[in-house]
Amino acid sequence: GASLPKPAHRRVFTIANQKGGVGKTTTAVNLASALAVQGLRVLVVDLDPQGNASTALGVQHTAGTPSSYELLLGEVTAAEAVQQSPHNERLFCIPATIDLAGAEIELVSMVAREGRLKTALSEAKLADINADYVLIDCPPSLGLLTVNALVAAKEVLIPIQCEYYALEGVGQLLRNIELVQSHLNPELHVSTVLLTMYDGRTKLADQVAEEVRAHFGDTVLRSVIPRSVKVSEAPGYGMTVLDYDPGSRGAMSYMDAGRELAARAASEQEREG
Ligand code: ADP
Ligand code: MG
Repeated sequence: GASLPKPAHRRVFTIANQKGGVGKTTTAVNLASALAVQGLRVLVVDLDPQGNASTALGVQHTAGTPSSYELLLGEVTAAEAVQQSPHNERLFCIPATIDLAGAEIELVSMVAREGRLKTALSEAKLADINADYVLIDCPPSLGLLTVNALVAAKEVLIPIQCEYYALEGVGQLLRNIELVQSHLNPELHVSTVLLTMYDGRTKLADQVAEEVRAHFGDTVLRSVIPRSVKVSEAPGYGMTVLDYDPGSRGAMSYMDAGRELAARAASEQEREG
């Protein structure tokens, strides 16, 4: 694919929605892959103890592997925990292991418990990886792991599944984002909404898409991710759909979403002034 413009500053996204199964992980890995295929350097931080993003990116994440858990504890640096995805030399992942399952509770008693990921991903510490984009994949909850992700990022990407109750829980997510913004991270904002698992054969999918666009306006990407069996098969091979079946509709829709995201970098920079 053609090269996308590098953003003037590293863009850090948290991919959040406390509902499970809406396409957070699928979006994190495939959007990351789409940006990397198009010439950018991308780091995925897996912050879900399930480690699904790590699996899809084909990186090692058995218990004891240096991971986001040790990163939060301050036991390893980002450079020590990062692995290159075997399918793309510009795609990197800090994996999640099962050790992260206890972190939600362990973090409670720690100093600066909300800001630990931000510290670990500071500019200096990411210098070696030199990523243009960082995408943080969150667990399906609004606990301390997600709060750490929201403090470490400037932009939030909300994937919304084109299904019944699509907007259920989104109000709660937005209130949490506002709380983090007013107390911990003034620059945080929802920059991107992505419609996922769209099934063009159903009237419902169109209704949901319309409702989401009415609610979020231009924040919603024009690119919509179709429901596609290739997208769901790819992780089983330790691949993103971009590697598994680059010509598929799923792959092309994530390529489009990546292009749109990169094109928006300019307007983000204007906003920053
Ligand atoms: P989350 O991280 O929000 O829990 P996932 O990304 O794991 O959600 O997606 C939930 C399930 O839906 C997974 O089995 C995934 O493979 C499947 N899925 C996600 N996006 C698509 C899609 N566009 N087409 C088909 N299946 C999808
Ligand atoms: Mg997930």
